[in-house]
Amino acid sequence: MSQSCWHRGDRGVQPDRLVQTHCCFCGQQCGIQLKVKDNEVIGFEPWEEFPFNQGMLCPKGVKRYLQGSHPDRLISAFRRDPGAPGGFSSLDYDEAIRQVADGIGRIQAAHGNAAFAVLSGASLTTEKTYLMGKFARVCLKTPYIDYNGRLCMVSAAAGNKKAFGIDRAANPWSDILGAGVVWISGANVAECAPITTNYVWQARENGAKVIVVDPRITPLARTCDLFLPIKPGRDVALFNGILQLMIENDWLDHAFIDAHTVGFESLAESVRGWTPSRTAEVTGIAEREIRKAAEWWGTAKASFLLHARGIEHHSHGVQNVLGAINIVLASGRIGRENCGYATITGQANGQGGREHGQKCDQLPGARDLANPEHRAHVAKVWGVSPDELPQPGVDAYEIFRKIDRGEIRGLLSICFNPLVSLPDNNFVARMLDKVDFYVAIDFFLNDTAHHADIVLPGSLHEEDEGTMTQIEGRVIKINQAVNPPGDARQDWRIIQDLAAALGRPHGFTFAHPREIFEELRRASQGGIADYSGITWEKIEQRHGIFWPCPSEDHPGTPRLFEPASHNPIAKGAGPFYFPDGKARFNIAEYTAPTEDVDAEFPVILTTGRVVSHFLSGTQTRRIGPLGDQYPEPRVEIHPQLAARLGILDGDWTAVTSRRGEITVRAQVVKTIRPDTVFVPYHWAGAKSVNQVTISAQDPISKIPEYKVCAVRLSKAARPPEYAGQLERQQ
Ligand code: SF4
Repeated sequence: MSQSCWHRGDRGVQPDRLVQTHCCFCGQQCGIQLKVKDNEVIGFEPWEEFPFNQGMLCPKGVKRYLQGSHPDRLISAFRRDPGAPGGFSSLDYDEAIRQVADGIGRIQAAHGNAAFAVLSGASLTTEKTYLMGKFARVCLKTPYIDYNGRLCMVSAAAGNKKAFGIDRAANPWSDILGAGVVWISGANVAECAPITTNYVWQARENGAKVIVVDPRITPLARTCDLFLPIKPGRDVALFNGILQLMIENDWLDHAFIDAHTVGFESLAESVRGWTPSRTAEVTGIAEREIRKAAEWWGTAKASFLLHARGIEHHSHGVQNVLGAINIVLASGRIGRENCGYATITGQANGQGGREHGQKCDQLPGARDLANPEHRAHVAKVWGVSPDELPQPGVDAYEIFRKIDRGEIRGLLSICFNPLVSLPDNNFVARMLDKVDFYVAIDFFLNDTAHHADIVLPGSLHEEDEGTMTQIEGRVIKINQAVNPPGDARQDWRIIQDLAAALGRPHGFTFAHPREIFEELRRASQGGIADYSGITWEKIEQRHGIFWPCPSEDHPGTPRLFEPASHNPIAKGAGPFYFPDGKARFNIAEYTAPTEDVDAEFPVILTTGRVVSHFLSGTQTRRIGPLGDQYPEPRVEIHPQLAARLGILDGDWTAVTSRRGEITVRAQVVKTIRPDTVFVPYHWAGAKSVNQVTISAQDPISKIPEYKVCAVRLSKAARPPEYAGQLERQQ
């Protein structure tokens, strides 16, 4: 849907007030001031004092205010009703809560507590993500909760924990500005993290050389100093080849390696075979360019390495991340000014949403659900016995496999749209029809919620208060601008209403999100993600506080791994979060993608985002100007491949894999490798490229391999869902 709505702001209505808050979309969490009239957001003003974006916004941030009064906004509960228009009829909120509690109780009584699962979201405030983890473990007593960050941040998180012992950007973005080399791998920065572009360009103006590694000449790559057009799925080979050249040329920081790391000797042995010629052969990058990149990186005085889903969405995503970290550690350029490393967070609360217990194996404070000491600490805060807490569950995709096996019979999702965002989603659709009872909480009827038995109307970002943690590790404050309309409720209230209706209200009687945050502070105290010294007032006074922050008089920790920075694990032994204070080099093994090309499926498909849309498109497909900018998915094809297949720009083209097919228009561009095609994934149903992608997962992080599968292409007829369009767009 691309319907926009008429806003009073469009007609020059003066606002009653400005509310300082943050954008609802990506992990950069740009500061913004919402213009509010009565109970409606009617526009925005830049918030120039917020240091990260200094008033700048991308197209999504500029248009975000248009969603609030959209006619699709859910303002009542609904129940599935095949006889009703649209398949649903509205339902009194209290009755809906009763029916959901009955459904959960029925399934758990018949099949056990573990027969009910929860899928949560990383767009929620940290208070809500904390409550969701607690709700699953304490109220529902099920091990099965996971979240949609499983599709986003988990490879980076696992790699960071293995190497550094902590999962957070090592540096504030201000350190990018003074870097001599900025290395960007697998990140379409200008479209997916637009404000970061400004940091990279400022660094370049200050003299930095910018290296971009990507299968596509992304907008940022068009202004970089060295572009490495890597074949999808070969990143670890490149990092190993770079490290081998650093070793050969002695571009190493021996003092740092000796004092602050372990494992370098065995790593060096493991990369010995990654000669420039072998690296070039595997990656598809010219040998001289590999040598140039290694020299620039190896001899830099200050540097910053950024990566994102391009290297993480793989069945060996963690190995790719470890390969990247290895070249950072070998250079010794981390833990000091202008020398840094970070992954670029995707979702709004992609950082905070992965710290406080909605992951399948995690408790608040980035604690480990399997660790007896960690269980005891959190159980005490929650007023339950540690023995009552379930053991770790399974990842989001495995929850659907458990539905297939009949082990999970009921499902509750909140702000998660797996029918669009999970790979091989025809399987997901079958599982949504198979599950006995499915409840969706959201503010729009998202594509997955169309399969729900009951839909509960949740809250938009601007309808609630709480914290999020943005891309740098800075905890920020979301402020409420308007009240939820009609019967819609703030999500934490819905969860507590369910706990009460289930007769299990213990621990779910918070009167305000601030009370949830105060409990979260205690639950995180002493953990790696320690928020105990953060207060809402402190956040607002200082434009955010970087965790860890272990006491109220602590200023927070913008840059990790500095000699004197807070570290509850090393306790003074060294800068990294292991008992000996040393970082770990990890051997990063190269393996080919799970499904490589062959004679039947000879082209690599890679997927990603465009600047106008966000993730599964639940919001941005409803914001008219964004939909108009990029109304439907297209397949990017290099002219050489297009010519070989007889495909012209604008032709309908079928992209077929072993799992499914999508028919979209061809966009013939020179900015992609000739052996690779690209389709963005923001659409549902017949327009969803995730019908085609593969459900192979990384064995450690369980992230799906969205960035590589094998397809074939052919000219096709216009599909029925595009009826009314001309055969070829001019
Ligand atoms: S989508 Fe991201 S970059 Fe764009 S305005 Fe929002 S937070 Fe900023």
